[in-house]
Amino acid sequence: MKLLSGKTALVTGASRGIGYAIAQKFAEQGANVAFTYLSSVEKGETLEKELGEYGIKAKGYRSDASDFSAAEQLINSVVADLGSLDILINNAGITQDTLLMRMNEEMWDKVIDVNLKSVYNTVKAALRTFLKQKSGSIINLTSVVGIKGNAGQANYAASKAGIIGFTKSVALELGSRNIRSNAIAPGFIETEMTDKLDEKTVQSWRDAIPLKRGGSPDDVADCALFLASDMSTYITGQVLQVDGGMLT
Ligand code: NAP
Repeated sequence: MKLLSGKTALVTGASRGIGYAIAQKFAEQGANVAFTYLSSVEKGETLEKELGEYGIKAKGYRSDASDFSAAEQLINSVVADLGSLDILINNAGITQDTLLMRMNEEMWDKVIDVNLKSVYNTVKAALRTFLKQKSGSIINLTSVVGIKGNAGQANYAASKAGIIGFTKSVALELGSRNIRSNAIAPGFIETEMTDKLDEKTVQSWRDAIPLKRGGSPDDVADCALFLASDMSTYITGQVLQVDGGMLT
């Protein structure tokens, strides 16, 4: 028996990296998968085909996570196209890093809108469906940086810390309706982006992690699978760190 058979999931920002790994793992585990992308149109179209090969319903949507009415439209389309919505993964995110001295208002607003407002947008839009069916699992991607802070990432850290407060508040408000809300805080995850960095720098990051390696998108997807599945039906309001012990 697959862990997500009969469930429908929406993953935002799945054209690459962690979102891509989550979409693949969920389809492999029998979920119908809806996902979004914004600029990577070709990658989105390819992913839709790849997911379909698992024999589940798969559909990609080009949708800007920071746009409130686009999120409403997205959730309506997912429910109409795939028949239901059980799992919502807010993964879409960006960075615009610089020291606060150089961080202008546009850089602040953009990161807060894409990373934090987006979570409000989709959760608000999915609420009616979750309340009606008296179940739902919300999983929001935060970061160890949202717990600890990071020089040069004041906007990103604030958006990720905001996600933690939002996730816990939703858990408190909606637990009585059997709607769960949890967050995942990845540490250093090795993706295409980190492949481009200087190997010596990356190795020094790995050496500083108790498990002595960077994480993979799959490590994060495994945690999302656990939180999405019925293996975690008594877990809500939590932030699970997937960081190899980095923040210990
Ligand atoms: P990534 O490779 O940069 O992918 C980001 C995804 O988000 C892409 O699919 C992108 O789609 C999508 N996206 C960006 N802006 C969007 C928007 N306005 N509307 C809809 N989709 C949008 O990122 P990642 O490294 O996999 O990270 C995924 C999540 O984990 C993020 O929330 C990130 O903050 C968090 N995280 C990552 C790490 C890490 O080490 N990688 C660590 C901690 C936390 P397009 O390509 O189509 O624009």
